[in-house]
Amino acid sequence: MNNSGNIAQHFKIKGRVQGVGFRPFIYRIAHQLKLAGYVYNQPDGVIIHIEGTESKCTKFSNLLSTDAPIGAVIKSVEKKVVESKNSESFKILPSRTSESAITEICPDIAICPDCLRELYGNDRRNGYPFINCTNCGPRFTLINDFPYDRQNTTMHEFQMCETCGNEYADPLDRRFHAQPISCPSCGPRYTYLYNDKILDDFSSIIREVGNHINKGKIVALKGLGGYNLACDALNSGAINDLRQFKQREKKPFAVMFRSLENLKKYAGITPFETNVIQSWRRPIVILEGLHENNLDPGITAGLNSIGAFLPYLPLHYLLFDEVETDALVLTSGNESEVPILYTEEMARHTFKEISGGILLNNRKIARRADDSVVKVIDDSLCVMRRARGYTPDPVDLNFNADGMLAAGAELSNCFCIGKEKQGILSQHIGDLKNADTYEFYLENIQEFSRMYRFKPRLVACDMHPDYLSTQYARELKIPITEVQHHHAHIASVMAEFGLNESVIGVSYDGTGLGTDGNIWGSELMIAGFQSFQRVGHFEYVPLPGGDSATREPWRSALAYLWHVYGSKWQSIDIPFLKKIDLNKANKLITAIDKGINSPLCCSAGRLFDAVAALLTICINSNYHAEAPMRLENELNNKCNDSYSFQSKNVVSFTSMIREIVQDINDHRSTTEIATKFHNTIAIAAIRQIQMAFEQTGIRKVVISGGTFQNRYLTEKLLHLLRQKDFEVYYPREIPCNDGGIALGQLAVAAHQKMK
Ligand code: ZN
Ligand code: ZN
Ligand code: FE
Repeated sequence: MNNSGNIAQHFKIKGRVQGVGFRPFIYRIAHQLKLAGYVYNQPDGVIIHIEGTESKCTKFSNLLSTDAPIGAVIKSVEKKVVESKNSESFKILPSRTSESAITEICPDIAICPDCLRELYGNDRRNGYPFINCTNCGPRFTLINDFPYDRQNTTMHEFQMCETCGNEYADPLDRRFHAQPISCPSCGPRYTYLYNDKILDDFSSIIREVGNHINKGKIVALKGLGGYNLACDALNSGAINDLRQFKQREKKPFAVMFRSLENLKKYAGITPFETNVIQSWRRPIVILEGLHENNLDPGITAGLNSIGAFLPYLPLHYLLFDEVETDALVLTSGNESEVPILYTEEMARHTFKEISGGILLNNRKIARRADDSVVKVIDDSLCVMRRARGYTPDPVDLNFNADGMLAAGAELSNCFCIGKEKQGILSQHIGDLKNADTYEFYLENIQEFSRMYRFKPRLVACDMHPDYLSTQYARELKIPITEVQHHHAHIASVMAEFGLNESVIGVSYDGTGLGTDGNIWGSELMIAGFQSFQRVGHFEYVPLPGGDSATREPWRSALAYLWHVYGSKWQSIDIPFLKKIDLNKANKLITAIDKGINSPLCCSAGRLFDAVAALLTICINSNYHAEAPMRLENELNNKCNDSYSFQSKNVVSFTSMIREIVQDINDHRSTTEIATKFHNTIAIAAIRQIQMAFEQTGIRKVVISGGTFQNRYLTEKLLHLLRQKDFEVYYPREIPCNDGGIALGQLAVAAHQKMK
């Protein structure tokens, strides 16, 4: 190469630049521009050295930011002019490992348009279910260690054939350095177990699987982050069987549709939701505009919403070619409340009784991940369950959280580790009270620690001594910071948005232990990272039965009736009281009177439970948060009425409860009452916020907590707040439910340590 007039530049690029086809992309643009130099991965990013004319180097810089591959996220580019090394050509050098620093792991990426085209094309990967390229395919669920090279993935067991090897080594091939590269002659294989028969030819397998689904059978499929169970979503018999197998009577199932066009026959979808559902992350999107009577009530369990998603694996596309239905139930392969199965041994054991077969393959799953669930609220994407496609995207922090572990909540657990100025949240783990889930939690903390070269020096956890996550944290015997549950909810949003001044925090939630020993969940606080001051909440009401009240909303309803009417509750004439066991009810009242197992509670979640039960739409709940979901399901956007309530620092809903009972007696519709109730809560929240503003002058408002998964309530409140010129922050990438708690714990602990 003629080097006269050439310059040399050195780039250090940080962000998510490994495992996303970044080096091949660099190679291609360097090649196009006829630049010399090299590129290599090191644990904390990608190093590039280029030599060429100044104008070409500038072009290179520009392309770097405009044309980067779909999965790449460039967070910083350090560029300097260096001395020319008189390079002859452009090379990709081997990765350099170092234990000290790490880089980002990419989440799993849905099959890309190029691979999809090839799946149906004429070359050797036609119909190949493991097709992938540098722009798509498994990542998080495939990686065993850093750096992202083939030998550190579960693909290391498969020897590349010569043709694949050539593609892998050809910088101009779109599979150049695609770590999971494979083909029918060298890659993993599916087998199908059915009735003691084993099928191992893929075209017969997929035909048989399709056949079974067409006949209404349930099939277990090995997916990316675990096994799924699949059946025809339009076949009531199959759905019933699936419910029996999962021991899941009422909870709605998510549905995978053949295509966007097919989905539209069943539910309305906005252009924004369309983008989300088609994105490479391919989450389950909760859509509210379900068209009436189109889907089996066995799917939706009576809700007007549906968790919908589109195929993300080549296997899903190939399966839809074989089935007649437009819609498949595709749910995690496990009984309710236990973590998704991911080992073949467990799959063979657990699924031996299902009506169809078990579709296995011989590529190991490095770690489990459920499908993610998102919802569009306030015209933005809000993640409700963070797993496949999102984990392990880090959260960039404006403080150092290095060496800190946040143990998370108990019910919808995610933990979080701090690496310098990043918080890395685990995938959704679930309810730690389940023994298998707790084991998954322990394993996963170990896995993250190993992969991220992480050793906790400080642990943060909830204040609740009974949470298994708290007990785990205490057993570590390292410095510990206990963080109040709702403070963590607010701090999590502050961390997501990089706020570090005092804010007005509103956390409406299920339950969380308060600093006064009572159960909180309607908190108004002035919060910073280091501390918070509680300035308001809903009135305390005894919660008879403590935790069991969350499964039995009638208990909350009864507690409110007793609270409002005292001993006269018995003379109220509403259908609710005819639907409950009065004997039990009387015992409960006695318990409240005597203060037995009836902690004081001000949780918004329990108030939603109470109203749902009073309206008899959910007296006992079959799954977490069913009552609030059913109440939300009744809403009518056109009603602007509300109930009265008394508010100072403490909000009393005594008059609202009386008015609701009156409305029930007047045969007002459930829809009207539910809507008025939601409006009342939004107005109560805004009054509380206004009060906090008058006391402090703070205009920044953070809202979070499980109750704000309710789209109507959240949008209403955001609207009211903006009308009054408040600056509002509502969680987006981090769940507003307990799945987001760990990030808040991390943030609080990091700041208390800095004190
Ligand atoms: Zn691809
Ligand atoms: Zn091959
Ligand atoms: Fe919570």
